Amino acid sequence: MRLITHNMLQCHVKGCTTNNFPLQIQDAELETLEAEFNPGFVQRLIPKLHWGALYHTAVSLGIEDLPEQMPEEVTEDLLRAIHKVALETRVKEGKAVCLGCGHVYPISNGIPNMLLQDNEV
Ligand SMILES: [Zn+2]
Repeated sequence: MRLITHNMLQCHVKGCTTNNFPLQIQDAELETLEAEFNPGFVQRLIPKLHWGALYHTAVSLGIEDLPEQMPEEVTEDLLRAIHKVALETRVKEGKAVCLGCGHVYPISNGIPNMLLQDNEV
């Protein structure tokens, strides 16, 4: 799961409406998947990002490439940092935990399992 994907996932357990984003990544095994840098694409991505969630998730994974506040001026360095963190960093194994209801979404071979049990939907 790339961090851009994580940045768009929230818990969807029935009745879980507070603290359901972002999911907290735990026990993560990370890998880097190199992708071609496309500054225009990253630029268009910026308004869709939940910056605080991306920043804090990255820091929790030991990645310190992003500024805590989204800078007003978008430089190439910033675009490259976002590219690296959001598009090239992948959680290979681990789990994504909802801080609202405690639901654990396992991540295996890079894929988050977002399926719920019947009594959770
Ligand atoms: Zn939840």
